[in-house]
Amino acid sequence: MKKNWKLLSVLMIAMLLILAGCGSNNEGGGNAAKGESGSDGIATIKERGKLLVGVKFDTKLFGLKDPASGQVEGFDIDISKAIAKHILGDENAIELKEVTSKTRIPMLNNGEIDMVVATMTITEERKKEVDFSDVYFQAGQSLLVKKGSPVKGIADITKDSTVLGSKGSTSVKNIKEKVPGVTVLEFDNYQDAFTALKTGKGDALTTDDAILYGMAAQDPNYEVVGEPFTDEPYGIAVQKGNSAVVKAINDTLAELKSSGEYDKIYEKWIGKAPAK
Ligand code: GLU
Repeated sequence: MKKNWKLLSVLMIAMLLILAGCGSNNEGGGNAAKGESGSDGIATIKERGKLLVGVKFDTKLFGLKDPASGQVEGFDIDISKAIAKHILGDENAIELKEVTSKTRIPMLNNGEIDMVVATMTITEERKKEVDFSDVYFQAGQSLLVKKGSPVKGIADITKDSTVLGSKGSTSVKNIKEKVPGVTVLEFDNYQDAFTALKTGKGDALTTDDAILYGMAAQDPNYEVVGEPFTDEPYGIAVQKGNSAVVKAINDTLAELKSSGEYDKIYEKWIGKAPAK
């Protein structure tokens, strides 16, 4: 009899654990396009009538929020609008949610957003957690320094240097591999990293050249130096298995390229970047 009680309680605990497990599928309360069934992702977006996109709010040229108007603008925003137009027939049927390099994958997999369009490099490691679209932008990692700095390129970064970066970025990982022993200070976002550079907390800030051009455009006392030392092909991330949404994104990118619209968006944002 005693044994039966033990068995019963073990069974009850197991059932509770199973129930708890089911509930956690909806963690974050999101109703974003799920990855389970290839075509459901599009149906979810259409039923909602709005595309939920994770973008940067602090990255000039790609996704920057104007505090006065509240508008978020940049290359990634124009690409996101084109996807909303393709899926929903209206480029304004969109809600932009702020992500950082660190929060973008958790927010996507929590169901808070349908996709990430946020200067995100396609990597083998990230492919274990999300699916990616085709490449929609090609960047490379570089360095931003105060004008007149002795740092003229990656060769000037040594184990005695202090470099600033953003948590969760490939940039931090890459620089540690390139220069073993280098000190890297990691910030929650790029504006905090830039503020740290301005207050003399490091010798250089490192991330993709295109992002650094945006910072140089914000303050002419800073410049991008040296040649890019990595390849950073940007992709749009969706939940794993969400093949219908990946197809809709890739179709949008192909249309943008064949119509010449992609070149216009590129020129509008990246063409404005200051020359090195
Ligand atoms: N493209 C790099 C990355 O995905 C750096 C830019 C960023 O942090 O978003 O990590």
